[in-house]
Amino acid sequence: MKLEPADKLFYKLKNNKVPLVVQWELTTRCNLDCMHCCIKNEKQDSELSFGEIKDILRQLKAENCMIQRFSGGEVFLRKDIFKIIELARKMQFGVMVLSNGTLLDRSDIKNLKKIGILDLQVSLYGATASMHDSITNVKGSFDKTMNTIGLCRKYKVPFHVAVMSFNKNFHELSQIKRIARKEKWKTIFDFVILPAVSSSKDPLSLRATDEQIKLAVRSGLLVWSRRNRLRSKKITRPEQFSGNDVRIEIGASGKVFPSVIMRKEAGDLRRESFSQIWRHSRTFRYLRSLDEKSFECFSCEYYNKCCKNRDLAYLEHGDVTVKPQEICRINRIFHENVGKR
Ligand code: SF4
Ligand code: SF4
Repeated sequence: MKLEPADKLFYKLKNNKVPLVVQWELTTRCNLDCMHCCIKNEKQDSELSFGEIKDILRQLKAENCMIQRFSGGEVFLRKDIFKIIELARKMQFGVMVLSNGTLLDRSDIKNLKKIGILDLQVSLYGATASMHDSITNVKGSFDKTMNTIGLCRKYKVPFHVAVMSFNKNFHELSQIKRIARKEKWKTIFDFVILPAVSSSKDPLSLRATDEQIKLAVRSGLLVWSRRNRLRSKKITRPEQFSGNDVRIEIGASGKVFPSVIMRKEAGDLRRESFSQIWRHSRTFRYLRSLDEKSFECFSCEYYNKCCKNRDLAYLEHGDVTVKPQEICRINRIFHENVGKR
């Protein structure tokens, strides 16, 4: 089977246990109070200091890590965030930043441009201030976020707009798409609403209904998977789904998890080295022991045409190998409606 160059690289990194992308929850603090927030009420431990972050970045460099994704909470609440981004760039990491976009002004955006980041992800929840602010629970947040998006455009900072798509804001999604097209924003509409990591089910009441998902598919708002987008049935990756991964999450106080939503603690960087955790922890050894046949998804008729999501399965059932029900729901509606108007 012929592999594309990007796939070849991906497998090489995977087989050599390279932690390609590290996502950092640099703080759990946030200036907004979003209805769907999945880290709400998370226990707050003391945040890693700049010195600790510097040391961890050195360890990541030694493991050939390439990309740092700095996230929160709201990452720009950290007073040393620009120092951290600058350090990561000096160490020649690619840097992505995730933000709600409410704390950045013109000089910050110019600074990001000067430092050179790969991407700034800005979250948007409505086409109008009343909708967006009713989700963030902070009046004026829409105007600030829109201002940041405008500044990114103006100063050519690479960015994309992440739109969480709920039952509540569904009627404004097409309007957001129109604005995005006009303003030339790169936009991602996300329909997968997660339960909170603290196991609260509150955010689930915001999930789009079956009928709304159907309309989103028919109007092209919902893009499901790379394969769906290409409408191809060909398998291009021999082992496309397994426990082994090249991503990792570092929590605010240095705890290490497989991902932001799969909070199965693998170790603590305040007590152990990154290499020890990544190569020898029980959590990562267990995940690496799973091949694609270990997952219930493997016997599903949609296996090659579905996003799947082991992390959501863990959040739903405490087990990565079972079917993630919310993905099954969206996938079913997607395939019943794709190509129909
Ligand atoms: S901006 Fe993000 S971290 Fe802050 S409340 Fe909203 S979802 Fe949670
Ligand atoms: S997530 Fe559900 S629909 Fe998708 S492959 Fe797995 S079992 Fe099938």
